[in-house]
Order: sequence, then C-alpha cells, then structure tokens
Amino acid sequence: MTDEMLQFDRDHIWHPYTSMTAPLPVYPVTSAAGVRIRLADGRELIDGMSSWWAAIHGYNHPFLKAAIRNQLEKMAHVMFGGLTHEPAVRLCRQLLALAPASLEKVFLADSGSVSVEVAIKMALQYQQAKGLKNKNRLLTVRSGYHGDTFGAMALCDPVNGMHSLFRGVLAKHYFVAAPRGRFGDEWNPDDLSEMRAALEARADRIAAVILEPIVQGAGGMRFYSPQYLAGLRKLCDAHRVLLIFDEIATGFGRTGKLFACEHAGVAPDLMCVGKALTGGCMTLAATLATADIARTISGSEPGIFMHGPTFMGNPLACAAANASLELLEQYDWQSRVAAIERQLKAELAPARDYAGVKDVRVLGAIGVIEMKQPVDLATMQKRFVDAGVWVRPFGRLVYIMPPYVISGRDLNTLTDGLLQVIR
Ligand SMILES: *Cc1c(COP(=O)(O)O)cnc(C)c1O
Repeated sequence: MTDEMLQFDRDHIWHPYTSMTAPLPVYPVTSAAGVRIRLADGRELIDGMSSWWAAIHGYNHPFLKAAIRNQLEKMAHVMFGGLTHEPAVRLCRQLLALAPASLEKVFLADSGSVSVEVAIKMALQYQQAKGLKNKNRLLTVRSGYHGDTFGAMALCDPVNGMHSLFRGVLAKHYFVAAPRGRFGDEWNPDDLSEMRAALEARADRIAAVILEPIVQGAGGMRFYSPQYLAGLRKLCDAHRVLLIFDEIATGFGRTGKLFACEHAGVAPDLMCVGKALTGGCMTLAATLATADIARTISGSEPGIFMHGPTFMGNPLACAAANASLELLEQYDWQSRVAAIERQLKAELAPARDYAGVKDVRVLGAIGVIEMKQPVDLATMQKRFVDAGVWVRPFGRLVYIMPPYVISGRDLNTLTDGLLQVIR
C-alpha cells in the first residue's frame, strides 16, 4: 500500500467511530494468518481482538477458505425470497442443534445489529398478534450494547450510546440499573429488585426484556451473576414478557460455554447470534425464535414476518458459518478456552497492583483491565503495535479476547505486551 493510498484513506474514508477531520492513525495490513496480523511495513502483531470477537479460529484458516472457495464455484449469492439452498439449510439445522432446545425457527440476517432489529420486530409483532397493542416497548439494563442501527441503538446504554444526540428520533424504552453482582460472587437477590419493580409497574407496556447474557460487552466489559438471568427468566414468564438474549459477542464458546446463557441454565424466547458465527470471515447473523413466537406472528394479521434483507442467507457466508461450526466441533474448544482463561488469570493478575489500574477480570477467553482514567487511544495503540500486539482499548477498558487457537507462548507474548504498555 502506497503513501498516496494512505493519504486517500485519511482524506476520504470513514473508519469506525472516527473523525473525518482529525482521523486517528490506521495501520495498513497486507495479510493475516493464525493469530498474526502482518502490517505493510513487515511487522507482525499477535492478535488480541479476534477482529471484535469474530475470528475465533484465527485468520486465513484453510478449512474456512476451502468452504468459501467450494461454495464460490457454485454460486456467490442468490436471493432468498422464493429460493433456498443447501448452505442455508445446513446452517440453520446446525444452529438449532446447538442452541437451547426451545428455539426452533431461524431468521438469517446480515449483521448483528440487523439481527437485533429482527428480534425487536418479532417481539412487537408477537404482542400485536396477541391483541396486546400497548406492549410496544422494551425493557433493558444500563451499560448494554446491541448495535448501531436505530432500533438497536435505542437499547444501548443511554449515556455511552449518546441517546441525547438522537433525542426525538430514538424509540423510547425502559432502563434499569445494570446487574451489580459479579460473576463468581455470592448472589444477592436484591440485584433483581429494580428489574422486578419495573416489570410489576409496566408489564402492560413491555413486549420484551433484552440483554447480553453474563457479559456486557462494548458497554463496559462487565461479567455478572448467572442467577440474575435465572431470576429474570421467572419474572418474564410471570409477567408475560418475552426474553431476548443478545449472544452476538458471547456466542460460540467465548465465555467457556457454547452460549453464555448456559451458565445460568436458562433459555430465551429470542436469541441473536453473529460475530463469531462465520469464524470471522464473512458478515452473517441470525435471530432464533421459539415455535410459539413463529406461530403467533404467522397466525394473525398480516400473517407474515415483516423483514427480508437483500443479502439474506448469503450462500458464501452460510458456507463459512457451516465450516466454522464444524471446526468448533472438531477441536476441543472448551479445553482451549479453559486454558486461555487459566493463563489470562495468572498473567494479568500483576496488573492489579499498577497505579492506574482499577480492576482486572477474566472470564473464558476474555481478559479485561479496567483503568482509573480513560486511555489515549492513539498513543496507546502505537505502543501496543510497537510491542508487537494488536489490542484496541476503548474508554477506560483495555481488553483482549484472542482467537481460541492461540498457543500458550503467543498468549504470553500478548499478555506481556499488554502489561508492559499499561505499566
Ligand atoms: C457487535 C454487537 C452487536 C452488533 O453487531 P454488528 O455486527 O456490529 O452490527 C450487537 N450486540 C452485541 C452484544 C455486540 O457485541
């Protein structure tokens, strides 16, 4: 990549959450393989991000590449309206086999945010179909993150999600405090009291509760008690409110269970998956629903579910997802994630004693160092790159969630680089 191209990038291309007049530096990448990202200047970085939770098997995986290549020979894409194909059917069958048993129907979406939009629509159409037209709001917890489109954004933390910027346009939902009890701590039933009170007061207005099970991701990287979900499931049933789990970040093994809700032994009525679904090589997401939801929506005016993206069920993406799920079953991801968890716990622990560090926490293949003050992204990013690791902090959070295939040695290089820069 030439300097002229980099200049064009600076002048014309928006990167995620950046300014067009004062853009932060971006590092040109030429290739990536396994847990290594190769920069144009020849440097190699050990990946701590899995490209935002997605590349769980590492980059350029031969099995995923072969699956995409084979599918490419047949067709790259075909519309899903009125047509179907084997990659989609195989994928939906695999997904339903892996997901909680009560989920029986799949809607394929093109990104995580869209799968959340779909879950919201399904919840609203369900309540409408039941004749409960006033149940058109959602209830959620603060510090959540559900995506950047308008429907999803209205459910993100109101402060982090900058709801004030879009006042008057964003849908109004109900918020209660985020779960306080930390994962692994003793459970205090009072943790659910605000949620219980909100449901008791407003169940007549609430179609569904939505939240990220166990791990609140982009809204604060917080790990909370499974008992919260178990109690919430009972509350939702008692108040005839649907329960939506956003497993887009947590799904496919990241927390040590295939889906984070398994920590609590509860199943949602609607579940969103995305990110790691294709092993990080194509964009694809899905919304899974119970048979009751599907039957209810279909049994009442207009008798159809009102959504259908152009690239729905893209065969290349489905083929990649099928291969990624097969890969997961082929190697013992559970013991890999457990080994990463043990190593992260041991190797990140010293950071607890650093002056600027507020908290260190680890769950599954996720390690978080929470600082007392927000970090300067550009400066810290450069230091990480100089240390040979790819870590992208936000706000006060410096965190890693490496590919499951990372070796103990590479993980040690990653945690070393992390601690060195933070110190
Ligand atoms: C990333 C994420 C989303 C949004 O997914 P996109 O593919 O970026 O649209 C939604 N919910 C959670 C929990 C996420 O981590």
